Amino acid sequence: MNETFDVAIIGGGPAGETFASELSAASPDKKILLVDGSSEGHIKVCGGLLAPDAQKVLAMMNLTLPNCILADPQIFAVETVDLVSRCKRLYQRHYLNMKRNAFDKWLLSNLPKSVAVISGMCVDAKQFNGVYAISVRQNEEIKTYLARAVIGADGGGSLIRRKFFGRTIKQYVALQQWFEGEKVPSYSCVFDRTTSDSYSWTIIKDGYSIYGGAFEKEGCREAFERQKARFEEFCGIKLGKPIKTEACLVSSPRRMRDFIAGRDGVFLIGEAAGLISSSSFEGISSAIISGKILARAFADGKNQRDVLRLYRRRTRALRIKLWLKTKKRAVLCSPTLRKMIMKSGIKSLQI
Ligand SMILES: Cc1cc2nc3c(=O)[nH]c(=O)nc-3n(C[C@H](O)[C@H](O)[C@H](O)COP(=O)(O)OP(=O)(O)OC[C@H]3O[C@@H](n4cnc5c(N)ncnc54)[C@H](O)[C@@H]3O)c2cc1C
Repeated sequence: MNETFDVAIIGGGPAGETFASELSAASPDKKILLVDGSSEGHIKVCGGLLAPDAQKVLAMMNLTLPNCILADPQIFAVETVDLVSRCKRLYQRHYLNMKRNAFDKWLLSNLPKSVAVISGMCVDAKQFNGVYAISVRQNEEIKTYLARAVIGADGGGSLIRRKFFGRTIKQYVALQQWFEGEKVPSYSCVFDRTTSDSYSWTIIKDGYSIYGGAFEKEGCREAFERQKARFEEFCGIKLGKPIKTEACLVSSPRRMRDFIAGRDGVFLIGEAAGLISSSSFEGISSAIISGKILARAFADGKNQRDVLRLYRRRTRALRIKLWLKTKKRAVLCSPTLRKMIMKSGIKSLQI
Protein backbone atom coordinates (compact mmCIF):
# COMPACT_ATOMS: atom_id res chain seq x y z
CA MET A 1 0.00 0.00 0.00
CA ASN A 2 1.32 3.47 -0.99
CA GLU A 3 1.91 5.94 1.85
CA THR A 4 -0.46 8.93 1.83
CA PHE A 5 1.17 12.37 1.86
CA ASP A 6 -0.53 15.31 3.56
CA VAL A 7 0.17 17.46 0.51
CA ALA A 8 1.48 16.81 -2.99
CA ILE A 9 2.94 19.88 -4.67
CA ILE A 10 3.06 19.80 -8.46
CA GLY A 11 5.86 22.10 -9.67
CA GLY A 12 9.14 23.11 -8.04
CA GLY A 13 9.40 26.71 -9.29
CA PRO A 14 9.49 29.66 -6.86
CA ALA A 15 5.85 29.06 -5.78
CA GLY A 16 6.16 25.31 -5.10
CA GLU A 17 9.59 25.58 -3.50
CA THR A 18 8.53 28.42 -1.17
CA PHE A 19 5.35 26.60 -0.16
CA ALA A 20 7.26 23.37 0.57
CA SER A 21 10.00 25.11 2.61
CA GLU A 22 7.63 27.30 4.60
CA LEU A 23 5.15 24.50 5.31
CA SER A 24 7.90 22.17 6.40
CA ALA A 25 9.22 24.85 8.79
CA ALA A 26 5.76 25.71 10.16
CA SER A 27 4.41 22.13 10.40
CA PRO A 28 7.37 19.70 10.63
CA ASP A 29 5.00 16.75 11.19
CA LYS A 30 3.38 17.09 7.74
CA LYS A 31 4.39 14.63 5.00
CA ILE A 32 5.16 16.71 1.92
CA LEU A 33 5.73 15.48 -1.63
CA LEU A 34 7.09 17.78 -4.35
CA VAL A 35 6.90 16.63 -7.96
CA ASP A 36 8.92 18.67 -10.44
CA GLY A 37 9.23 18.18 -14.17
CA SER A 38 12.09 20.57 -14.91
CA SER A 39 14.68 17.79 -15.20
CA GLU A 40 12.24 15.86 -17.44
CA GLY A 41 12.61 18.29 -20.29
CA HIS A 42 9.87 20.77 -19.24
CA ILE A 43 11.14 24.10 -20.63
CA LYS A 44 10.83 27.32 -18.66
CA VAL A 45 11.07 30.47 -20.74
CA CYS A 46 11.88 33.55 -18.69
CA GLY A 47 13.56 36.94 -18.91
CA GLY A 48 15.25 36.18 -15.59
CA LEU A 49 14.89 39.69 -14.18
CA LEU A 50 14.40 39.89 -10.42
CA ALA A 51 12.07 42.84 -9.81
CA PRO A 52 12.15 45.06 -6.68
CA ASP A 53 9.00 43.30 -5.32
CA ALA A 54 10.78 39.93 -5.55
CA GLN A 55 13.94 41.38 -3.97
CA LYS A 56 11.77 42.71 -1.12
CA VAL A 57 10.12 39.36 -0.45
CA LEU A 58 13.51 37.57 -0.46
CA ALA A 59 14.75 40.20 2.03
CA MET A 60 11.70 39.53 4.22
CA MET A 61 12.60 35.82 4.16
CA ASN A 62 16.13 36.75 5.24
CA LEU A 63 17.59 35.34 2.01
CA THR A 64 20.56 36.73 0.12
CA LEU A 65 21.36 35.93 -3.49
CA PRO A 66 24.67 34.20 -4.29
CA ASN A 67 26.72 36.06 -6.92
CA CYS A 68 26.89 33.00 -9.20
CA ILE A 69 23.16 33.43 -9.94
CA LEU A 70 23.69 36.89 -11.43
CA ALA A 71 24.16 37.31 -15.18
CA ASP A 72 26.30 39.92 -16.89
CA PRO A 73 25.62 42.90 -17.21
CA GLN A 74 23.48 44.42 -14.47
CA ILE A 75 21.00 46.93 -15.88
CA PHE A 76 19.72 50.28 -14.67
CA ALA A 77 17.27 51.24 -17.38
CA VAL A 78 14.84 49.90 -19.95
CA GLU A 79 14.80 51.26 -23.47
CA THR A 80 11.17 51.37 -24.58
CA VAL A 81 10.69 51.14 -28.32
CA ASP A 82 7.49 51.60 -30.32
CA LEU A 83 8.01 50.18 -33.79
CA VAL A 84 4.83 51.79 -35.15
CA SER A 85 5.31 55.39 -33.95
CA ARG A 86 9.12 54.85 -34.24
CA CYS A 87 9.58 56.43 -30.83
CA LYS A 88 12.25 55.41 -28.29
CA ARG A 89 12.55 56.38 -24.60
CA LEU A 90 14.73 55.35 -21.66
CA TYR A 91 13.24 54.69 -18.18
CA GLN A 92 15.05 53.84 -14.95
CA ARG A 93 14.58 50.28 -13.64
CA HIS A 94 15.85 48.42 -10.58
CA TYR A 95 15.95 44.79 -11.71
CA LEU A 96 18.64 42.19 -11.09
CA ASN A 97 19.71 40.34 -14.24
CA MET A 98 19.89 36.63 -13.32
CA LYS A 99 20.38 33.17 -14.77
CA ARG A 100 16.85 31.91 -14.26
CA ASN A 101 17.68 28.19 -14.14
CA ALA A 102 20.41 28.84 -11.58
CA PHE A 103 17.92 30.85 -9.48
CA ASP A 104 15.39 27.98 -9.46
CA LYS A 105 18.11 25.42 -8.65
CA TRP A 106 19.33 27.60 -5.78
CA LEU A 107 15.78 27.88 -4.38
CA LEU A 108 15.37 24.09 -4.60
CA SER A 109 18.72 23.57 -2.87
CA ASN A 110 17.24 25.37 0.18
CA LEU A 111 14.51 22.72 0.57
CA PRO A 112 14.61 20.86 3.87
CA LYS A 113 15.48 17.15 3.64
CA SER A 114 12.08 16.23 5.10
CA VAL A 115 10.38 17.15 1.79
CA ALA A 116 10.21 14.16 -0.57
CA VAL A 117 11.26 15.42 -4.01
CA ILE A 118 10.34 13.43 -7.13
CA SER A 119 11.71 14.26 -10.57
CA GLY A 120 8.96 13.61 -13.08
CA MET A 121 6.00 15.05 -14.94
CA CYS A 122 2.58 14.82 -13.33
CA VAL A 123 0.35 13.52 -16.12
CA ASP A 124 -2.91 13.11 -14.22
CA ALA A 125 -4.54 13.80 -10.86
CA LYS A 126 -7.90 12.57 -9.65
CA GLN A 127 -9.86 12.31 -6.45
CA PHE A 128 -11.25 9.09 -5.02
CA ASN A 129 -12.39 8.20 -1.48
CA GLY A 130 -11.28 11.57 -0.13
CA VAL A 131 -7.67 11.34 -1.36
CA TYR A 132 -5.95 12.43 -4.56
CA ALA A 133 -4.10 10.01 -6.81
CA ILE A 134 -1.26 11.75 -8.62
CA SER A 135 0.15 9.97 -11.68
CA VAL A 136 3.76 10.86 -12.38
CA ARG A 137 5.80 9.91 -15.45
CA GLN A 138 9.34 9.04 -14.37
CA ASN A 139 11.73 7.59 -16.96
CA GLU A 140 8.85 6.42 -19.19
CA GLU A 141 7.18 4.68 -16.23
CA ILE A 142 3.95 5.93 -14.62
CA LYS A 143 3.91 5.86 -10.81
CA THR A 144 1.00 6.84 -8.56
CA TYR A 145 1.27 8.83 -5.34
CA LEU A 146 -1.54 9.52 -2.85
CA ALA A 147 -2.14 12.80 -1.04
CA ARG A 148 -4.88 14.48 1.01
CA ALA A 149 -4.35 17.84 -0.70
CA VAL A 150 -2.90 18.88 -4.06
CA ILE A 151 -1.06 22.14 -4.67
CA GLY A 152 -0.94 23.26 -8.29
CA ALA A 153 2.35 25.17 -8.56
CA ASP A 154 2.90 24.08 -12.14
CA GLY A 155 3.15 27.47 -13.79
CA GLY A 156 1.49 29.01 -16.86
CA GLY A 157 0.50 25.75 -18.58
CA SER A 158 -0.85 24.30 -15.29
CA LEU A 159 -2.31 20.81 -15.65
CA ILE A 160 -3.85 21.08 -12.17
CA ARG A 161 -5.68 24.30 -13.08
CA ARG A 162 -7.00 22.79 -16.34
CA LYS A 163 -7.97 19.54 -14.70
CA PHE A 164 -9.82 20.84 -11.62
CA PHE A 165 -10.95 24.34 -12.61
CA GLY A 166 -11.00 24.34 -16.39
CA ARG A 167 -11.64 28.07 -16.28
CA THR A 168 -9.71 29.82 -18.97
CA ILE A 169 -7.33 32.70 -18.60
CA LYS A 170 -5.99 34.76 -21.48
CA GLN A 171 -2.72 33.18 -22.61
CA TYR A 172 -0.07 34.11 -25.12
CA VAL A 173 2.69 32.01 -26.59
CA ALA A 174 6.00 33.39 -25.30
CA LEU A 175 8.74 32.88 -27.88
CA GLN A 176 12.35 33.63 -27.11
CA GLN A 177 15.53 33.25 -29.18
CA TRP A 178 19.16 33.41 -28.09
CA PHE A 179 21.93 34.79 -30.33
CA GLU A 180 25.70 34.83 -29.94
CA GLY A 181 27.21 38.24 -29.11
CA GLU A 182 25.91 41.49 -27.68
CA LYS A 183 23.80 42.84 -30.54
CA VAL A 184 20.68 44.23 -28.83
CA PRO A 185 20.13 46.96 -26.19
CA SER A 186 21.00 45.45 -22.77
CA TYR A 187 17.31 45.63 -21.81
CA SER A 188 14.48 46.88 -23.92
CA CYS A 189 10.75 46.64 -24.13
CA VAL A 190 9.34 46.53 -27.66
CA PHE A 191 5.79 47.41 -28.75
CA ASP A 192 4.56 46.64 -32.24
CA ARG A 193 0.80 46.67 -32.73
CA THR A 194 1.11 45.18 -36.22
CA THR A 195 2.37 41.85 -34.85
CA SER A 196 1.17 41.63 -31.21
CA ASP A 197 -1.15 43.42 -28.79
CA SER A 198 1.29 42.46 -26.01
CA TYR A 199 4.96 43.37 -25.83
CA SER A 200 8.44 41.97 -26.54
CA TRP A 201 11.85 42.36 -24.97
CA THR A 202 15.59 42.20 -25.53
CA ILE A 203 18.07 41.30 -22.81
CA ILE A 204 21.81 40.70 -22.81
CA LYS A 205 22.93 37.74 -20.68
CA ASP A 206 26.53 36.62 -20.35
CA GLY A 207 27.50 37.56 -23.91
CA TYR A 208 24.26 36.38 -25.52
CA SER A 209 21.47 38.51 -26.98
CA ILE A 210 17.89 37.49 -26.27
CA TYR A 211 14.91 38.56 -28.36
CA GLY A 212 11.57 37.42 -26.95
CA GLY A 213 7.93 38.35 -27.04
CA ALA A 214 4.34 37.31 -26.34
CA PHE A 215 2.07 36.52 -29.30
CA GLU A 216 -1.44 35.26 -30.01
CA LYS A 217 -1.38 31.46 -30.37
CA GLU A 218 -2.51 31.46 -33.98
CA GLY A 219 0.33 32.39 -36.32
CA CYS A 220 2.67 33.11 -33.38
CA ARG A 221 5.86 32.01 -35.13
CA GLU A 222 5.16 34.06 -38.24
CA ALA A 223 4.27 37.15 -36.14
CA PHE A 224 7.48 36.69 -34.10
CA GLU A 225 9.68 36.51 -37.21
CA ARG A 226 7.95 39.52 -38.79
CA GLN A 227 8.36 41.57 -35.62
CA LYS A 228 12.00 40.56 -35.20
CA ALA A 229 12.70 41.73 -38.76
CA ARG A 230 10.95 45.08 -38.03
CA PHE A 231 13.05 45.46 -34.86
CA GLU A 232 16.27 44.68 -36.76
CA GLU A 233 15.35 47.29 -39.38
CA PHE A 234 14.49 49.90 -36.68
CA CYS A 235 17.77 49.38 -34.80
CA GLY A 236 19.90 48.79 -37.89
CA ILE A 237 21.16 45.42 -36.61
CA LYS A 238 21.25 41.82 -37.85
CA LEU A 239 20.64 39.19 -35.19
CA GLY A 240 21.63 36.30 -37.45
CA LYS A 241 20.99 32.63 -36.79
CA PRO A 242 19.58 31.84 -33.32
CA ILE A 243 21.45 29.26 -31.27
CA LYS A 244 18.30 28.39 -29.29
CA THR A 245 14.54 28.95 -29.66
CA GLU A 246 12.28 28.50 -26.62
CA ALA A 247 8.50 28.64 -26.29
CA CYS A 248 5.89 28.31 -23.55
CA LEU A 249 2.47 29.62 -22.57
CA VAL A 250 2.30 32.77 -20.47
CA SER A 251 -0.83 33.88 -18.63
CA SER A 252 -2.17 37.39 -18.88
CA PRO A 253 -4.98 37.84 -16.32
CA ARG A 254 -7.67 40.32 -17.29
CA ARG A 255 -10.41 39.84 -14.66
CA MET A 256 -10.53 39.29 -10.91
CA ARG A 257 -11.98 35.79 -11.49
CA ASP A 258 -8.85 34.79 -13.43
CA PHE A 259 -7.15 34.46 -10.02
CA ILE A 260 -8.14 31.06 -8.59
CA ALA A 261 -7.29 30.09 -4.99
CA GLY A 262 -8.64 26.54 -4.92
CA ARG A 263 -11.51 24.18 -3.99
CA ASP A 264 -12.05 20.84 -2.21
CA GLY A 265 -8.45 20.19 -1.21
CA VAL A 266 -6.90 21.49 -4.46
CA PHE A 267 -5.05 24.79 -4.11
CA LEU A 268 -3.32 26.92 -6.74
CA ILE A 269 -0.29 29.15 -6.18
CA GLY A 270 1.98 31.26 -8.40
CA GLU A 271 1.30 31.52 -12.10
CA ALA A 272 -0.99 28.45 -11.99
CA ALA A 273 -3.33 30.59 -9.85
CA GLY A 274 -3.08 33.39 -12.44
CA LEU A 275 -0.84 35.43 -10.12
CA ILE A 276 1.36 37.24 -12.63
CA SER A 277 1.54 40.86 -13.74
CA SER A 278 -0.21 41.29 -17.07
CA SER A 279 1.64 44.57 -17.66
CA SER A 280 5.20 43.22 -17.31
CA PHE A 281 4.88 39.39 -16.97
CA GLU A 282 6.71 39.74 -13.65
CA GLY A 283 5.67 36.66 -11.69
CA ILE A 284 8.48 35.56 -9.37
CA SER A 285 7.39 37.83 -6.49
CA SER A 286 3.72 36.71 -6.66
CA ALA A 287 4.82 33.07 -6.84
CA ILE A 288 6.92 33.38 -3.67
CA ILE A 289 4.31 35.47 -1.82
CA SER A 290 1.41 33.13 -2.65
CA GLY A 291 3.50 30.06 -1.69
CA LYS A 292 4.35 31.68 1.63
CA ILE A 293 0.75 32.74 2.35
CA LEU A 294 -0.67 29.29 1.56
CA ALA A 295 1.90 27.60 3.82
CA ARG A 296 0.89 29.95 6.68
CA ALA A 297 -2.79 29.23 5.97
CA PHE A 298 -2.07 25.46 6.18
CA ALA A 299 -0.32 25.99 9.51
CA ASP A 300 -3.14 28.17 10.91
CA GLY A 301 -6.25 26.58 9.34
CA LYS A 302 -8.38 24.07 11.28
CA ASN A 303 -9.37 22.13 8.15
CA GLN A 304 -9.10 22.46 4.36
CA ARG A 305 -12.11 24.80 4.14
CA ASP A 306 -10.54 27.05 6.73
CA VAL A 307 -7.18 26.94 4.91
CA LEU A 308 -8.89 28.06 1.71
CA ARG A 309 -10.73 30.86 3.52
CA LEU A 310 -7.47 32.14 5.08
CA TYR A 311 -5.57 31.81 1.79
CA ARG A 312 -8.25 33.77 -0.09
CA ARG A 313 -8.40 36.47 2.57
CA ARG A 314 -4.64 36.88 2.88
CA THR A 315 -4.03 37.03 -0.88
CA ARG A 316 -6.68 39.75 -1.38
CA ALA A 317 -4.13 42.59 -1.46
CA LEU A 318 -1.98 40.67 -3.96
CA ARG A 319 -4.99 39.98 -6.19
CA ILE A 320 -6.03 43.64 -6.11
CA LYS A 321 -2.47 44.71 -6.96
CA LEU A 322 -2.37 42.32 -9.93
CA TRP A 323 -5.85 43.42 -11.03
CA LEU A 324 -4.57 47.01 -11.06
CA LYS A 325 -1.73 45.81 -13.32
CA THR A 326 -4.39 44.74 -15.83
CA LYS A 327 -5.44 48.42 -15.99
CA LYS A 328 -1.80 49.45 -16.41
CA ARG A 329 -1.48 46.91 -19.24
CA ALA A 330 -4.53 48.40 -20.96
CA VAL A 331 -2.83 51.82 -20.91
CA LEU A 332 0.63 50.60 -21.96
CA CYS A 333 -0.72 48.41 -24.76
CA SER A 334 -3.02 51.11 -26.14
CA PRO A 335 -1.13 52.57 -29.13
CA THR A 336 -2.70 56.04 -28.66
CA LEU A 337 -2.10 56.33 -24.90
CA ARG A 338 1.40 54.86 -25.17
CA LYS A 339 2.30 57.27 -27.95
CA MET A 340 1.06 60.20 -25.83
CA ILE A 341 3.06 59.04 -22.79
CA MET A 342 6.22 58.40 -24.79
CA LYS A 343 6.00 61.64 -26.74
CA SER A 344 5.47 63.60 -23.48
CA GLY A 345 8.73 62.15 -22.13
CA ILE A 346 7.18 61.93 -18.66
CA LYS A 347 9.44 60.00 -16.21
CA SER A 348 11.94 59.23 -19.00
CA LEU A 349 15.69 59.73 -18.64
CA GLN A 350 17.38 62.36 -20.76
CA ILE A 351 20.65 61.24 -22.31
C1 LIG B 1 8.76 34.67 -21.47
C2 LIG B 1 8.60 34.94 -20.02
C3 LIG B 1 9.43 35.85 -19.40
C4 LIG B 1 9.28 36.08 -18.03
N1 LIG B 1 10.14 36.93 -17.43
C5 LIG B 1 10.05 37.16 -16.11
C6 LIG B 1 10.98 37.99 -15.45
O1 LIG B 1 11.93 38.50 -16.06
N2 LIG B 1 10.84 38.20 -14.12
C7 LIG B 1 9.80 37.63 -13.41
O2 LIG B 1 9.68 37.89 -12.21
N3 LIG B 1 8.93 36.81 -14.01
C8 LIG B 1 9.02 36.55 -15.34
N4 LIG B 1 8.16 35.69 -15.94
C9 LIG B 1 7.12 35.03 -15.13
C10 LIG B 1 7.73 33.97 -14.26
O3 LIG B 1 8.60 33.13 -15.00
C11 LIG B 1 6.62 33.12 -13.63
O4 LIG B 1 5.49 33.88 -13.32
C12 LIG B 1 7.15 32.46 -12.37
O5 LIG B 1 8.22 31.62 -12.68
C13 LIG B 1 6.02 31.68 -11.74
O6 LIG B 1 6.54 30.82 -10.78
P1 LIG B 1 5.78 29.47 -10.47
O7 LIG B 1 6.54 28.81 -9.41
O8 LIG B 1 4.34 29.77 -10.28
O9 LIG B 1 5.85 28.65 -11.84
P2 LIG B 1 7.13 28.21 -12.68
O10 LIG B 1 8.31 29.02 -12.33
O11 LIG B 1 6.68 28.17 -14.09
O12 LIG B 1 7.42 26.76 -12.15
C14 LIG B 1 6.57 25.70 -12.46
C15 LIG B 1 7.35 24.42 -12.25
O13 LIG B 1 6.44 23.37 -12.44
C16 LIG B 1 7.04 22.38 -13.24
N5 LIG B 1 5.94 21.70 -13.93
C17 LIG B 1 5.10 22.20 -14.85
N6 LIG B 1 4.20 21.29 -15.20
C18 LIG B 1 4.47 20.19 -14.47
C19 LIG B 1 3.89 18.90 -14.38
N7 LIG B 1 2.83 18.55 -15.10
N8 LIG B 1 4.46 18.00 -13.53
C20 LIG B 1 5.53 18.33 -12.79
N9 LIG B 1 6.13 19.53 -12.82
C21 LIG B 1 5.58 20.45 -13.66
C22 LIG B 1 7.99 23.12 -14.15
O14 LIG B 1 9.04 22.29 -14.60
C23 LIG B 1 8.48 24.22 -13.23
O15 LIG B 1 9.64 23.84 -12.54
C24 LIG B 1 8.27 35.42 -17.30
C25 LIG B 1 7.44 34.51 -17.94
C26 LIG B 1 7.61 34.25 -19.28
C27 LIG B 1 6.73 33.25 -19.94
